[in-house]
Amino acid sequence: MAALSDNELARYARQLILPEVDLEGQARLKQSRVLVVGAGGLGTPAAQYLAGAGVGSVRLADDDRIALSNLPRQLAYTEDDLGQLKVGVLAQRLRDANGGIAVDAHCVRFNGDTAPALLEGVDIVLDATDSLQARLDIDRATYAARLPWVLGAAVGTSGQWAAFDETRREGCYHCLMREPDSPENLGCAELGILGPVVGLVALHQTLLVIRYLVGAALPSGYLHMLDAWTGETRKLGLSVCGDCELCQTLST
Ligand SMILES: [Zn+2]
Repeated sequence: MAALSDNELARYARQLILPEVDLEGQARLKQSRVLVVGAGGLGTPAAQYLAGAGVGSVRLADDDRIALSNLPRQLAYTEDDLGQLKVGVLAQRLRDANGGIAVDAHCVRFNGDTAPALLEGVDIVLDATDSLQARLDIDRATYAARLPWVLGAAVGTSGQWAAFDETRREGCYHCLMREPDSPENLGCAELGILGPVVGLVALHQTLLVIRYLVGAALPSGYLHMLDAWTGETRKLGLSVCGDCELCQTLST
């Protein structure tokens, strides 16, 4: 287990005293690597909280540039950053916030071609993509690599999140969603989004990741749905699709 320096003990003092974290959990966080796919409304708060909590290595993947319409909810970015690559700016923000962690930024989209390099050495993947196809790609690649991932999605005033452990015994994302017939899926650009809604979803995802990294089981098999306007949440049980093309046909 990685030893913690005096500086780290002081820095993480408020979370170290939680029995849920403890010294051992903090040391586990230090040894962990998380891949955050997407550096937008979900990815910016998720990456900032992971870095703040002391996750030892944060890897970012995104090929988008910062636009004016991002600023209401992607609060890691400022007006001076407009036009810059999101991963480059976000990586620097994380390094500025916590010099004790490693951050590597990849200006790529997650797909079957980029997955092997992006997943190398990773413990868990946080989906922050706003893309059905990307989530299907993450599901497929992490299943093949026997890695867990945490889905997050938000549109309008609604959000949802779910965790999939490495076994997919409780089902996988392909059990829930089939491959899209068309590459066009309506997202926040078409349907709108309110900043705090996407922030709420991202922080639920981040909590699941931190809990997992400090040693808690990943609560797979549930889709959490949030109506952020009323504050109501629902938890739906997921089931294995008997003819799922991923978890019922591919063995790893
Ligand atoms: Zn499945």
